[in-house]
Amino acid sequence: MTTKARQATALLDRMPSGFTTRFAPAPTGHLHLGHLVNAIWVWGLAAARGGRVLLRIEDHDRGRCRPEFERSILDDLDWLGLVPDAAGTDDFRRGPTPHRQSDNLARYEAVLRELEAEGRAYPCICSRTEIARANAEMGQPDRAGQEQRYPGSCRDRGLGADVTLARRLVVRESNLEEFKDLRLGPQAQDPPSQCGDVLLRDRAGNFTYQFAVVVDDFDQGVNVVIRGEDLLDSTGRQLRIAKLIGRPAPPRFLHHPLVLHPDGSKLSKSAGDTGIGELRSNGASAAELLGRAAGLAGLGHDGLPIHAQDLAGLFAR
Ligand code: GLU
Repeated sequence: MTTKARQATALLDRMPSGFTTRFAPAPTGHLHLGHLVNAIWVWGLAAARGGRVLLRIEDHDRGRCRPEFERSILDDLDWLGLVPDAAGTDDFRRGPTPHRQSDNLARYEAVLRELEAEGRAYPCICSRTEIARANAEMGQPDRAGQEQRYPGSCRDRGLGADVTLARRLVVRESNLEEFKDLRLGPQAQDPPSQCGDVLLRDRAGNFTYQFAVVVDDFDQGVNVVIRGEDLLDSTGRQLRIAKLIGRPAPPRFLHHPLVLHPDGSKLSKSAGDTGIGELRSNGASAAELLGRAAGLAGLGHDGLPIHAQDLAGLFAR
């Protein structure tokens, strides 16, 4: 057994049994091999530990999401044999899968109103340029290419609720969010210094990923989040949001390695050579594509074809 295969097996021992997780693509493009690597981890671990997989279409950003991408994602998943489980009895809404964030707007609105009533959320009129300027004035380094920390400019401005749709969450208390990643081990993050007050809804009225995902994971009973390491930095602030909206026990997290092009760029940035639809129309079979993704997933699989119903075997050998 290779070291990676041994690590995959050891990982299983750390996974709670019978957990609920989710596969949560944003319909801003077609499914590509990077998504499939995530799907290998999600469906493989769930199958190996008697877990459940919910499908959630993360279409919170109405400007970037397209129904044709959603249709294409659902069609590719179906073709691959990656079948989500039905929603369970512990769900906030027992609706059919897929869950769709655009169906949940009233719920996000209600949670936001509650936070505002408690004085935990406030209107914000700052543009990106203003945030960068305020940070520069405060001697904060410009973190090129990285998310800017919000310096709290609007927190005490006393803006009326009708001035803008944008809302931020107060994350003032600087105590570390500590969690034990199921793969990476102990982590500690400090949202106030990482990002400052988190944007919950933007000026166009879109609820943000950070907010919507936490409300959904809570409502839908998701207790294990399995996703790529590119989202590791978001976890501390999501734990903070979860606490503030009243989630009694936080979910567990597993961040898996990202698959990159040889030049280090993310696969999603150039889906041309990795789009499932194109690979399908070039004659690849579902098992071949799952095998290729399993080979890329860092689990010690040799890349040979594998069927969706056999994914548990990647972890339990
Ligand atoms: N919708 C996110 C994405 O497509 C995934 C979010 C998550 O797993 O928390 O990257």
